[in-house]
Amino acid sequence: MAIRPTARTDVNRSAILAHLGAQGPASRADLARALNVSPALMTQLTKDLLADGLLRELEHSPSQGGRPARMLGLVASAGRAIGVKVVADHVAFVEVGIGGAVIRSASEPFDASASTVLADLTVLLQRFIAGGSKAPLLGIGVGIPGSVDRQGNGLVDSTQLGWNQVPVGATLRRELKMPVLVENNVNALAMAERLYGLGRHYENFMVLTIGTGVGAGFVVDGAVLRGHAGGSGEIGHIPVAVDGPACSCGNHGCLESFIGEAALVRIARERGVIGAESGMPALRSAADAGDQGATSIFSEAGHLLGRTLAGIVHTVDPEIVIILGEGTTAWSHWSFGFEPALRSSLIPSRRGLAVAVEMWQDESWAQGAAALVLATPFDSDDVAGDQGRLVRERLVEQASPQGDNG
Ligand SMILES: [Zn+2]
Repeated sequence: MAIRPTARTDVNRSAILAHLGAQGPASRADLARALNVSPALMTQLTKDLLADGLLRELEHSPSQGGRPARMLGLVASAGRAIGVKVVADHVAFVEVGIGGAVIRSASEPFDASASTVLADLTVLLQRFIAGGSKAPLLGIGVGIPGSVDRQGNGLVDSTQLGWNQVPVGATLRRELKMPVLVENNVNALAMAERLYGLGRHYENFMVLTIGTGVGAGFVVDGAVLRGHAGGSGEIGHIPVAVDGPACSCGNHGCLESFIGEAALVRIARERGVIGAESGMPALRSAADAGDQGATSIFSEAGHLLGRTLAGIVHTVDPEIVIILGEGTTAWSHWSFGFEPALRSSLIPSRRGLAVAVEMWQDESWAQGAAALVLATPFDSDDVAGDQGRLVRERLVEQASPQGDNG
């Protein structure tokens, strides 16, 4: 979690807050080590933050042999962020505290194909913001199933939403007068994993999501890989068969056209495993009840996913693969095909690759979007650009000088 040494003390101050938010209370010595600044500078920076009411001193930590160190913790009221998940038929919101924990959430119907789509999104956001807590709002993160040119610009292309060059970032910034960061939703999840999840222990890892679509986010040497135009990680469109089923992208035979939710439901209907009107809940119930036709549909999907993932692992070399997404509720059925296919397709030296499947919660996507805002203190590569700088300024400027009610 080191940031690059910088002369800009506001960046260092924000990095301290984000570190404590993500990792919990720490001593000054821990912070100096983690953020790569000298102990003397850390003492000065934390003195300023204490005076500003952003930090508070906690009880001494339990002694582990040496002299107990004075621990520092966040003042919870110092700031908050809002995360938004946009899909074709609804929008989900969360408000998170400075440490990334969810304070409240909401979900609203939405029509991504409406001609008034950006005005609709603005109104929904204004309504959610109005119900917020008193802590200063640092900014808004928006997660989109598609590619985004730059986080701080937010020009969106999405086959899933039918969007072509939609100016999400510019519109929301103008209407809400607030820093707005926009990112591909799986990349946002990867950032959330990096800050708060299992990913905080790894410099190189991969997030794989299964559900409506199939996607991936790559963290390489500690940073989320965006690629040339923000389009990295679209593994659902890896071509896996010649003349396969039609895919939402317009091509045929993509991975997603075999193992996305719509594909699994279509196959189940064709094979008479579920009725013509039934969907994923019926297929999952049938598999849970031991129906062999149903379990083999998931197992075949797992097999194809495992083989394809082996190719990706050979290319990117992650230390761990973290599997997430709505589809993981049926993972016990996927894993029958997935595990043997993955292991046997990996080269021998990589067969011990760690794979973790995380419990999925519906608000995780929106929480990932909010992490874009809280991650900007780590933004040493300036991925968030001007918007990231605005978030940092709000974090430092809006703190109440006397406040200590955390
Ligand atoms: Zn495709």
